[in-house]
Amino acid sequence: MENTKKRYYHHKRKKPVNSAVQPESESKTPEKKIVPSENPSVRHSLNPNQRISVVIPLYNEEESLQELSDSLKSTFENLKCNYEVIFIDDGSTDKSFQKIKDINRRNNNFHCIKFRRNYGKSAALAKGFKAAKGNIIITMDADLQDDPSEIPELIKVLNSGYDLVSGWKKVRYDPFIKKHTSKIFNYFTSKLSGIRLHDFNCGLKAYKRDVVKSIRIYGEMHRYIPALAHLSGFKVTEKPVKHHARKYGVTKFGASRFVNGFLDLLTVSFTNKYMKRPLHFFGSMGILISAAGFLISMYLVILKIMEGKPLSDRPLFLVGIFMMVVGIQFLSLGLIAEMITKSNNSDEDILVEETI
Ligand code: UDP
Ligand code: MG
Repeated sequence: MENTKKRYYHHKRKKPVNSAVQPESESKTPEKKIVPSENPSVRHSLNPNQRISVVIPLYNEEESLQELSDSLKSTFENLKCNYEVIFIDDGSTDKSFQKIKDINRRNNNFHCIKFRRNYGKSAALAKGFKAAKGNIIITMDADLQDDPSEIPELIKVLNSGYDLVSGWKKVRYDPFIKKHTSKIFNYFTSKLSGIRLHDFNCGLKAYKRDVVKSIRIYGEMHRYIPALAHLSGFKVTEKPVKHHARKYGVTKFGASRFVNGFLDLLTVSFTNKYMKRPLHFFGSMGILISAAGFLISMYLVILKIMEGKPLSDRPLFLVGIFMMVVGIQFLSLGLIAEMITKSNNSDEDILVEETI
């Protein structure tokens, strides 16, 4: 247990203490490394009735699939545990599905859900989460950038008392622009969600079943899963993991990722706070704006009464009236939003941890 504590960081901890996986550039000792999956302590941290589901979204990744499956197979054979791998073919137009069919023919722990068209990574993950039967769920990308040999250590951290362990690509092999913009994203996401992580959008993560069955992801929300889980009250932490450069094919996200990512961050922080009480947001804005408009107009009316200054040639008068109208519109918007919230109101969003 003591050891485990040193191997990951809780989000509140400022400085890394010691990492299970030393980044290549930092590891100096060439001594024989223990492959995590061969480490008996990892095996012992697995509860014998824990079943593992691996969910892998993929879009045109035909070259990587065989290598990925071989590597997953040997990881789980070393762990000697019950597992299933669910590929979600997100509308691939190459031979990905054919490859998975071959893999499934040889090993029926490997399955696939094939979409008719491309719906996006979040939709693929959501389908995979729904289908997963295991009590521990691992997600990873299909492009060999995530390393299956990290899975046992992630499970070990998860079993030490967390609901979600998010991989942290401490040494990452991505293009310069992506590495740096993602630092900004991680900074803002940490600030807005209240959980300090270095890397929200790592494909490699381990979850307890409850998490994947209760969070809802859509659009491109997969970038914020740890934030959503944290905001729902789950215990989230991170652990450094190995990362590799993309070996085959190209990235499936273009420059739109930056705009979409930012808009989704707004959605996450707004809906989390005001979903159940939209009038508090729109109403307070409305009251502030109309009050300012009212004060401006009153000031001008008083000037007119006292000093006889005409209102018609004062642009400020128009500003005052405009602000009052806009404020009332905000207020009405809030009331309509309340009506929608009320008509959809259910206790399904309330996550119960335990009942005795
Ligand atoms: N992916 C997907 N649907 C999409 C886009 C991506 O299933 O519409 C998969 C992709 O095949 C890969 C993972 O999501 O397995 C991460 O995508 P990618 O490697 O292109 O992202 P990056 O590493 O550049 O962030
Ligand atoms: Mg990738």
